[in-house]
Amino acid sequence: MEIKTVGVIGSGQMGSGIAQVAAAAGYAVIMNDVEDAFVERGFATIEKSLDRLVKKEKMTPEDLKTILGRIEGSTALDDMSRADFVVEAAVENEELKAKIFKQLDAVCREGVILASNTSSISITRIASTTARPDKVIGMHFMNPVPMMKLVEIINGLATSKETFETIRDLAVAMGKTPVPANDFPGFISNRVLIPMINEAVYALFEGVGTAEDIDQVMKLGMNHPMGPLALADLIGLDTCLAIMEVLQRGLGDDKYRPCPLLKKYVAAGWLGRKSGRGFYVY
Ligand code: NAD
Repeated sequence: MEIKTVGVIGSGQMGSGIAQVAAAAGYAVIMNDVEDAFVERGFATIEKSLDRLVKKEKMTPEDLKTILGRIEGSTALDDMSRADFVVEAAVENEELKAKIFKQLDAVCREGVILASNTSSISITRIASTTARPDKVIGMHFMNPVPMMKLVEIINGLATSKETFETIRDLAVAMGKTPVPANDFPGFISNRVLIPMINEAVYALFEGVGTAEDIDQVMKLGMNHPMGPLALADLIGLDTCLAIMEVLQRGLGDDKYRPCPLLKKYVAAGWLGRKSGRGFYVY
């Protein structure tokens, strides 16, 4: 099936970014969330991001209008009956994702591939909630989506070769570089990244260094473009905690124990940039 219309579930940081790159690549996009206000926030994020490209003269104001014009807002999952491909980027919660995939399976036409942008949850388990597990796959974009080249592609146990090839080609058409990873908790990216972030939070918790000093060491000493605590704030501390919990549960090893300070920040609603406060104040 030729993909012309891309459905995106969730209009948060990732969903809006995916909608933006899909529209910029020429696809019609249906961007969904549970409330109009969240869809509107998604549009505002996209407009701000495109506006930066206009200011840098990487695109014209007309391009901006054309790209925005390709995106339609939606608060009804039934709208996905018109999509040729759907990628889910709702919050990192397995129960919620299972519910969404069940609904998508009922609403979407036969043959439509359903992808999840999950950071860590098993694609095999998400796929098992549908009657089309061969057409379910992980398409893991990085944050911020318009800037980052990588898309990790994760096959579930039943994902077909055709589904993998279609999504690999779609990632390329969106200007990204696909890299395959096997279906293990956290895949490759977050199996390595999130425990490092969690360790940086322990270093802060135990007083090994201040947030600024921990980040400076990793930037100046390890050549990371961003310190792990600033990166955690960018990812969202709720998302980091959810991934650590998936690693701990899924791999059954307490070396993945989330730092109590990370848990406390999330409990306080200090989620990072998106809430205005995390390890830093924004
Ligand atoms: P976010 O909190 O910015 O956005 C999530 C959005 O999903 C919210 O707008 C929320 O209202 C919406 N939502 C919740 N339930 C929904 C439903 N039933 N239907 C439609 N929309 C619903 O989170 P995010 O950072 O965009 O993360 C989204 C997904 O992408 C998660 O699975 C996360 O693990 C993954 N991810 C995040 C990052 C990152 O750096 N933040 C990177 C890669 C992947």
